[in-house]
Amino acid sequence: MNLILLGPPGSGKGTQAKMIAQHLGIPQVSTGDMLRAAVKEGTPMGLKAKAMMDAGALVPDEVVVGIVRERLQKDDCVNGFILDGFPRTVAQADALQSNLADLGKSINMVISLEVDNEAVVERISGRRTCPDCGRMYHVQFDPPESADTCGECGSALIQRDDDREATVRKRLDVYAQQTAPLVEYYNNAGLLKSIDGMQAIQTVQAEILQALGC
Ligand code: ADP
Ligand code: AMP
Repeated sequence: MNLILLGPPGSGKGTQAKMIAQHLGIPQVSTGDMLRAAVKEGTPMGLKAKAMMDAGALVPDEVVVGIVRERLQKDDCVNGFILDGFPRTVAQADALQSNLADLGKSINMVISLEVDNEAVVERISGRRTCPDCGRMYHVQFDPPESADTCGECGSALIQRDDDREATVRKRLDVYAQQTAPLVEYYNNAGLLKSIDGMQAIQTVQAEILQALGC
């Protein structure tokens, strides 16, 4: 199963992708996580991407298209993958389609998580992230058992630099202008399944699994 999770920042893509990945035994492919790993390692690409990410802007299409093309060729993607945060522009979606065709693959379903802007701001400003294993929490909606500590690996949780309110509002503008057109793009392709992302985490998960026929 080759899936895309589409939705504004904070709509729950990462939270749901991790659960589906475990359920289906296929990897989550998050461009945000891969870019943050490059920033952490201090690679030349990471150094260039950091300024754009901190400003809430998108990094150039060719950078993310290249990272995803390499990632999808890895052995663990042979039975499927869940794209989280990619594609984010029509150019990325076109490039993905052509790169998948080269590999003899295609996208089976695009799940669009629908959440309103004020909920996004509330979710993102309360998001805490584990810098080591990537698990996300929310101070109110999905709190860690022990304050500020990751329940999976014990690391100290952080707030991402781009999760402050002013940057979140900028990211929402970028989403509306550059990414939202993909809803129609994939609807026209007959691949779109919309899910009400305003519901509780477990309810959203159940609806996604039902849509996938699991
Ligand atoms: P995205 O990957 O789309 O940016 P995340 O999965 O990181 O979004 O979720 C953003 C924040 O909202 C996290 O702190 C997460 O714990 C919380 N969250 C995710 N889904 C829900 C939900 N259905 N209801 C309430 N909070 C949620
Ligand atoms: P995310 O973790 O998905 O919220 O992404 C964090 C940031 O990484 C975004 O605000 C962008 O700056 C960058 N990013 C992640 N995925 C992409 C993408 N597909 N295209 C361009 N920039 C991206």
